[in-house]
Amino acid sequence: MTRAPAQAEELEKLSVEAIIERLLAEHPSAGSRGALCLTCSFQAEDMIVLDLLRQRLPQVPVLFLDTGYHFPETYAYRDRMVKAWNLNLHNLTAKQSVADQEAQFGILNQTDPGRCCHLRKVEPLFAALENFDVWFTGLRREQSPTRRNLKVLEHHELPSGKKLLKVSPLAAWTWEQVWKYTAENQIEYLPLYDFGYRSIGCEPCTAVPSLGADARSGRWGGRKLECGIHTESKRADG
Ligand code: SF4
Repeated sequence: MTRAPAQAEELEKLSVEAIIERLLAEHPSAGSRGALCLTCSFQAEDMIVLDLLRQRLPQVPVLFLDTGYHFPETYAYRDRMVKAWNLNLHNLTAKQSVADQEAQFGILNQTDPGRCCHLRKVEPLFAALENFDVWFTGLRREQSPTRRNLKVLEHHELPSGKKLLKVSPLAAWTWEQVWKYTAENQIEYLPLYDFGYRSIGCEPCTAVPSLGADARSGRWGGRKLECGIHTESKRADG
């Protein structure tokens, strides 16, 4: 599974289609064995990577973190796209329901969003990733200062010691490229974008960013920029 860093650098120069082709060629059994997955919050970037992957692997596992706090529009869009694209959706949930968590801890997204994200996102995702060797994402460097050093191909290690490849084919893409691809390929998008949202997660922690600010500056009221799913696994390649 391990690639030499020099080979990883080559991927940075390839088109998004060529990156996906290369990864699939090097992991020919990933699709059939289900060892390859995509995390998908049904944002525009995720839908592009999904569109490209599903053309090659129609039943690619699509991991959605169902926190119980998403916008109604997100749930409705998820359900429409699952039906329209016949997706192999893995709906990941926390150990506790929202009601049980709120009864035990109160409204953690107001008092301790780090803990809330850990319980409702990080724990279920990392448990699910134990089953996969290649993890595709829709992350882009431009989204946030915390993503400036993102590489197309990274080696990651989960807290359990499980190692996997994390692949972000859109790492170098701009916001304009995202919407060009979406329009040219006539991909239906989450309607909340039409109201000015640029990074869409759980409803209580998502706001429209100010003009000119980073896309993710509208998340968590500026208190933090990441939920932990992309920062709590360890980069194993420096
Ligand atoms: S984004 Fe907000 S509501 Fe969602 S899991 Fe994190 S703190 Fe909780």
